[in-house]
Amino acid sequence: MKHDYQLIYNKLYEHYGPQGWWPAETPFEMMMGSILVQNTSWRNVDKALDNLKPFLKPEAIDKLSIDELAQLIRASGFFNIKASRIKSYMEWFKIYEYDINLIKKRDRHKLRTELLSIKGIGPETADVILLYALDTPIFVVDAYARRIFYRLGYDMPASYETFRNQVEKELPVDLVLYNEFHALLVEHAKEHCKATPICDGCPLFGICDRRLD
Ligand code: SF4
Repeated sequence: MKHDYQLIYNKLYEHYGPQGWWPAETPFEMMMGSILVQNTSWRNVDKALDNLKPFLKPEAIDKLSIDELAQLIRASGFFNIKASRIKSYMEWFKIYEYDINLIKKRDRHKLRTELLSIKGIGPETADVILLYALDTPIFVVDAYARRIFYRLGYDMPASYETFRNQVEKELPVDLVLYNEFHALLVEHAKEHCKATPICDGCPLFGICDRRLD
């Protein structure tokens, strides 16, 4: 099947409108949220971020012991592992003196490689950080995107990188587009293309291979 990611994007955008997605109040909060959201929903992340609010500055997180941090983020689940991952992330962040503008000056590919070398930061987490905290146009491959494109009938590469490159090859390098695309796919997976899809009224109905008639 021919891939036409721009067409999918256009149809979702026309149907759901601009999402203006920004799940956190600051880039640093977004960084913390992208680790906390691993294996859980953003609702639980919100609870953890609420507890973490008085400490949502790099220096303050750094001063917390790993056990204190784990207790504060309990609501996000897997809190001991996530506390340890946040601490590893902070070690890397400290190299840049906690300066997001300094990080943004790095070459995008080198930056991604650095993020992926941090313990507990996989491609999806790295790309959410790059897109929403560091303003890098990049396609986030998550379970929702996989589900939607599979149902549409696309050849789904098993590898994260192959899928990401396949999408990025066809789309302009546009930060707003990638920000919106991820948010629109999440919205679509929640509204229509759920585990059991609600195909009636779906904006992609006409181009979907696995629609329920
Ligand atoms: S038609 Fe159904 S299966 Fe296809 S994208 Fe829409 S909701 Fe998903």
